[in-house]
Amino acid sequence: MNHIPLSNIKAILLDLDDTLYAYKSCHQAAYEACMILASEKYNLFNSDFEAAWKAGRDKVHQDLHGQGASHSRLLYAQKVSEILFDKTNPQFALEIEETYWRTFLNNMKFKPEVEAFLIDAKSKGIKMCIVTDLTAQIQMRKWLKLDLGRYIDFLVSSEEAGIEKPGAYMFELAMKKLGVKAEECIMIGDSEEKDIKGAEALGIKAYLV
Ligand SMILES: [Mg+2]
Repeated sequence: MNHIPLSNIKAILLDLDDTLYAYKSCHQAAYEACMILASEKYNLFNSDFEAAWKAGRDKVHQDLHGQGASHSRLLYAQKVSEILFDKTNPQFALEIEETYWRTFLNNMKFKPEVEAFLIDAKSKGIKMCIVTDLTAQIQMRKWLKLDLGRYIDFLVSSEEAGIEKPGAYMFELAMKKLGVKAEECIMIGDSEEKDIKGAEALGIKAYLV
């Protein structure tokens, strides 16, 4: 990230997941913790849990495509309970969700170079806004875990915007909060489809990490 050109840049729009930290290892640890809970407390076989999680997640993605809640671990877990218990089990769903995110957050740390980049950008007086797909509550918990308030000014989540990247309103809302125009910004993210094409469609420079 340290070679991203910042001359004439007034503001940076930043993706969060898999841009500031590595997503996969956090997810894997979180998912395994959920499987252990399901096995030890609810006597579920790992293979049943895995099949129900996949089916539940796919159904939530399909029903809520394009909305922040399409990634809701609480809704995935609700579906898992309905598939495996043949009824909604809110206690199971809430315990799985809490276990998932608690473990996920415990495993989160900045990718190499990221914090040095944020310190450098902040020292240049550049304003920054997180532009991220998912619900506000968990993205705020991630913000607190990484203590992003030391560097970042604003958050835009797709729950708040009512649309996900590459939808224009995600980027427009961020620019409005920052008080900047497209030509004064750069977007940094790991998704060509969401972050790069979404930003470039509005005339915002974009950098793929
Ligand atoms: Mg990402």
